[in-house]
Amino acid sequence: MFSAEIEIMTQPQSLTSIPELRAQIRQWRAGDESIALVPTMGALHAGHIALVALARQHCRRVIVSIFVNPTQFGPTEDFLRYPRSLEIDLEKLASAGADAAYYPGANAMYPAGFATTISLAGPALAGLEDRFRPTHFQGVATIVAKLLLQASPDAAIFGEKDFQQLAVIRQMVRDLDIPVEIIGAPTFREPDGLALSSRNIYLDARQRTFAPDLHQAMQWAARRIREGVTIPDALRDASASISASGFVIDYLEVRDSATLAAPRTAQNPAELRLLAAARMGQTRLIDNIPVGG
Ligand code: AMP
Repeated sequence: MFSAEIEIMTQPQSLTSIPELRAQIRQWRAGDESIALVPTMGALHAGHIALVALARQHCRRVIVSIFVNPTQFGPTEDFLRYPRSLEIDLEKLASAGADAAYYPGANAMYPAGFATTISLAGPALAGLEDRFRPTHFQGVATIVAKLLLQASPDAAIFGEKDFQQLAVIRQMVRDLDIPVEIIGAPTFREPDGLALSSRNIYLDARQRTFAPDLHQAMQWAARRIREGVTIPDALRDASASISASGFVIDYLEVRDSATLAAPRTAQNPAELRLLAAARMGQTRLIDNIPVGG
């Protein structure tokens, strides 16, 4: 009688093993339902939820995987302290209308004796993230390949926030003939421009006030390049501004959006992407924007 006032939340199916996942997939396939996969490491925020919404636009069923993948963290990185909040994540997925949450344990993903990894070249060796996280994309590609083989989705959604990762996955799917459509989702930002990230919780209150300066300086650089300032000049000035806000810059570079190669002389800004990684205290932020606006 009061149904209009009641928020109807269907709990997503909890799937914790490969056989459970495959049984659910078989059931949906028997009903001829299309399936989208949204791979995540949990600690879900509005950026992840936007990916779920985009997935729902493409497919009848949406599976969100939650797995903090050890092989994509370097030995000195934050694997152990990476935020984990499964119960809250499941509530968020219920509100977002996801059909299933797939959260296998580490032993299911990497059983004893596991010995195979995906070996990458091309965009994985662009000299951006890979320069600072040399084993990262091998770990990402291996887990994404496994997830795609386990779930055999029609589509998989990845954020442009991790722009090099998206390029690596597109390349892998093309090279290995994995039958899935890879869909990129725009970066979801705070009102002040900071890209949402599970790692933003590492920022203390003071650092949080300076964190949006990275994106603002990037926008400034892109605007100046569009106005005719040379790329080196625009990047030099933006670097100074980012450093003045308290960041230590890992990289700030303009690249071809499609290949991640260095820009050609006088290349059209519409074809270029500005990518950055910078550390604020213990927190490493990444961001990227189109140079063409
Ligand atoms: P993560 O849990 O950080 O591994 O991210 C899971 C997926 O969400 C990846 O495809 C990310 O690119 C994407 N993602 C993370 N943050 C954002 C954001 N702020 N906007 C859009 N997508 C995001």
